Amino acid sequence: MLEAAGFPLHGFTTRHGGVSAPPYDTLNLGLAVGDDPDAVAENHRRLERHVGLDAAILSARQVHGTAIALAADLARERPDRRELPAVEADGIVCADPREAVGVRTADCAAILLAEPRSRLVAAVHAGWRGAAGGVVAAGVAALVSHGASLEGILAAIGPCICGRCYEVGDDVASLFPDAARPSPEARGKHLLDLPLAVELALRAAGLHARNIDRADACTRCNGSDFFSHRGSGVTGRNMGFICGGVR
Ligand SMILES: [Zn+2]
Repeated sequence: MLEAAGFPLHGFTTRHGGVSAPPYDTLNLGLAVGDDPDAVAENHRRLERHVGLDAAILSARQVHGTAIALAADLARERPDRRELPAVEADGIVCADPREAVGVRTADCAAILLAEPRSRLVAAVHAGWRGAAGGVVAAGVAALVSHGASLEGILAAIGPCICGRCYEVGDDVASLFPDAARPSPEARGKHLLDLPLAVELALRAAGLHARNIDRADACTRCNGSDFFSHRGSGVTGRNMGFICGGVR
């Protein structure tokens, strides 16, 4: 859908195509998980080359919060642009079609937002904590505050942990009355459908259902294709990224 709307430069990575050794094999895009920094840098270069991006993907230090950064501020912060440790944000809005922004995940959801008229884009990171805190609405609001029309915002929810394998306790389940259900197997446990929770948050923020796309892939069920924190513990990071430009 983003492609058809004029945003060809976006995607969600798998764990294939990189140079990292186990347990980060192979396309680990996270610097803070213990992998060799040279391998991570090479993985980023491979991704940028493969997609045809002119600049490195801007990303911030993710803290399961609701802060949304502006790409122009991140670009000023550090020349190498990747995983800027000084900036804590779980979403980045980008108004410059020469820049790409991304978020790292390993079971959490990466959400890409784009609005064709303003050409504004954003990448947002949401696990249960961020979703419950309102990071999805914060990402949409940030796009609108920079000039996007709410009516026109398109969203793509990337591969993330699914509603059959995301076991949570009462406390977390109670935060998602419409997206959690009692576990049929574990007494007192619940299963949280994170992609559904994100979709409901996007709808509540004012997006049309027809403007929301969901990848039909679970990171944990497909551990050979995606990094999964719940599945593997110490592991690499997938990335969802988007650029407002065209090739
Ligand atoms: Zn699953």
